[in-house]
Amino acid sequence: MDTENKEMLNEEVYSTETHLIYGKNITKKWDYSHHVTAPLSSSVIFRLDSVERGSEGFIEFANPDMLGKETSPIYIYDRLGEPNKDILEENLAFIEKGEMAVTFATGMGAISAVLGILCKSGDDIVASRTLYGCTYSLLKNWYPRYDINTIHTDLTNPDTIREKITAKTRVIYFETPCNPNLDLIDIRALRRMVDEINITRDDKIYIVVDNTFATPYCQRPIELGADFVVHSLTKGIGGFGTDMGGVVIGRKEFQDHLLMYRKDFGAVLGTKAAWTVLTYGLTTLHLRIARQTQNAMKIAEFLEAHPKVEFVNYPGLPSFRQYKLAKEQMKNFEGEFAPGSLLFFGLKADTLDESKEKARRFMNFAADNAYTLTLAVSLGHTRTLIEHPATMTHSMIPVNELLEHGIHPGGIRVALGIENHKDIIHDLERSLEIV
Ligand SMILES: *Cc1c(COP(=O)(O)O)cnc(C)c1O
Repeated sequence: MDTENKEMLNEEVYSTETHLIYGKNITKKWDYSHHVTAPLSSSVIFRLDSVERGSEGFIEFANPDMLGKETSPIYIYDRLGEPNKDILEENLAFIEKGEMAVTFATGMGAISAVLGILCKSGDDIVASRTLYGCTYSLLKNWYPRYDINTIHTDLTNPDTIREKITAKTRVIYFETPCNPNLDLIDIRALRRMVDEINITRDDKIYIVVDNTFATPYCQRPIELGADFVVHSLTKGIGGFGTDMGGVVIGRKEFQDHLLMYRKDFGAVLGTKAAWTVLTYGLTTLHLRIARQTQNAMKIAEFLEAHPKVEFVNYPGLPSFRQYKLAKEQMKNFEGEFAPGSLLFFGLKADTLDESKEKARRFMNFAADNAYTLTLAVSLGHTRTLIEHPATMTHSMIPVNELLEHGIHPGGIRVALGIENHKDIIHDLERSLEIV
């Protein structure tokens, strides 16, 4: 196998889907040229042939002059780097169209690392009003202790963003689609706005996008103008719910800081988790997410037509508030519309309390009686997962503030799996009958 063969990595010759399976094929990160599947490394430490080699290894680590070079690294200790993570990182950078990737133990490890290298005391973050619960908690409960403050705003409305930006703003942070209500944020529009503002600033503003909901199969934010993408590998990319992980993807100039941050704060991705994502998650990503997206579309249409359903937020429905943006921004590797695998819906009721109560009854019935609806947090699994954000994933937001954060208290989040959609509809029908 010719490892220098550039044609193999050329997307005009081979598609991204094929690259997900073969990755960089044989990489310089590790010599396993006669294995078909990359082996699982299970050694925390690495033997150094000489003191000189050890010293060279420490000089190499996170050294901007060495990073990205197609050379075999000198491995020393797992927290600094080891082959399984390095191979996974090469592939994640490639599919997200970034220059580099650094993995972390969890999605939260990745999010705190990218914000950790970009922000210092006195800086502000402008963030979406709708965020993953623990990200919201990180920004609200921990960063103010270091005098890093967050202004939450409705980033779906670009007109209101400019007035939130001050000389202290360092990062614009958001998810698109947002967790859990599926609002979209226009990445290209924000890029144009930030570019205009950055012209006159020494301390630039960076755009960080959590792309966990879409996965690179449905959307590649760096191509649309984001500076950084973060993922929870625990979700759609990992895909089977067996391991946790996270990643930051972006420009090479930040790789040394991310590696140093990971070394010193310690949220290192375990080798076994890296190997699982590389071996099972990435190679099947296109099949799983395509099937989940087809299922989501069918379920969204079913729910929208159901007399007991008040609203369905799904970027693939023509009735979706931001359908036009969805079509422009969410595309698979072949350029086809890929509105993703999650939807958010609510039941008809006279009051918000009644809607919440009906959602509770619906989910408890499904938890007991449905074969294909599993009451559990997380998403991007082979099984369809349902949950109630107001009482579960987003319970750290005070109840009276949920609507301000764009979260309907009765809303139910459905993260589609890869089952036959007819079975999911069967279970939904039965569960809707009792409310
Ligand atoms: C799950 C999730 C995270 C956090 O990831 P962990 O791997 O659980 O730490 C961050 N953002 C979104 C959108 C998520 O769904």
